[in-house]
Amino acid sequence: MAIVAFLGLGNMGAPMAKNLIRAGHTVRVYDLFPEAVTSLVADGGEAAASPADAANGADVVISMLPAGQHVAQLYLGDEGLLQQLPAGTLVLDCSTIDVATAQRVAQAASRCNIDFMDTPVSGGVAAAAAGTLAFMCGGQVSAFARAKPVLEGMGNAEKIFHAGDAGAGQVAKAVNNMLLAVHMIGTCEALAMGAASGLDPAVLSEIMKASSGNNWSLQVYNPYPGVMPTAPASNDYKPGFMVDLMVKDLGLAMAVAEQSGVSNPMGQLAQTLYQSLQSEGAGQEDFSSIMRQVQKT
Ligand code: NAD
Repeated sequence: MAIVAFLGLGNMGAPMAKNLIRAGHTVRVYDLFPEAVTSLVADGGEAAASPADAANGADVVISMLPAGQHVAQLYLGDEGLLQQLPAGTLVLDCSTIDVATAQRVAQAASRCNIDFMDTPVSGGVAAAAAGTLAFMCGGQVSAFARAKPVLEGMGNAEKIFHAGDAGAGQVAKAVNNMLLAVHMIGTCEALAMGAASGLDPAVLSEIMKASSGNNWSLQVYNPYPGVMPTAPASNDYKPGFMVDLMVKDLGLAMAVAEQSGVSNPMGQLAQTLYQSLQSEGAGQEDFSSIMRQVQKT
């Protein structure tokens, strides 16, 4: 079992840190909000007064922060955490951030002989609590071998992937969420058109699940209210996965498209539609609430 420093105890980080404690690791926790630390201490975590305090003597440092600027601020610069870690420390950044920042931190880590990986997750708050997250990891093969047993404390072993070199985890995350946005919007359009034409959306969902239109949104996240009792659509579109986060992730996907020189008109349209939903005040709703937009037009 490892000594783990866990930095960032928000909606995702707190349940992930709890699962590492349950798995038997010693987990030193830090967040800018002291209440988040107190709550984790009640679950068996050890309170730390700063990132450096949490990382002191740790085998592994894990961060789960909002965006690239927070990750850069934590790790880089003269006062940054990388300068304070001993060589050989394994650092896993589970945040969803831009590829360029992930690669910049990885390069700086490499100069300090630190094993850094970008390890963003898929699955959301429910999977974080259940310990069934998927991880997509970018970095050295040797670092991945060290990371996997730790990540298994927070995710399904068969859903922990080595995506490639530094930044590859963030590329995988961005393109996956772009695809999610596209098939969610397409699923909403298909269901709304069928229902408006007199079909029962539940029956239509079963037909499409058994046919070539089958996809994740239909299988586990049906966006038509009442079809799937556990889906956000049947709970007034309470998240789930917020529109604000989808807009953030689509922005990251657009940067990947630009960087890779690939044309992505479907992704761009999805970004426009989600930005419009957000500007109408639906940022805190579940992203499947794009159904309301579809039904309006
Ligand atoms: P959140 O805003 O709930 O939590 C972020 C936490 O980081 C906050 O508690 C904040 O105080 C803390 N923090 C910020 N800077 C810090 C620092 N320097 N040191 C220590 N703590 C710091 O966000 P979240 O929903 O937990 O998401 C975290 C990351 O996971 C994001 O990058 C997000 O895009 C990604 N993600 C979220 C979901 C989801 O459903 N919420 C799903 C997949 C991925």
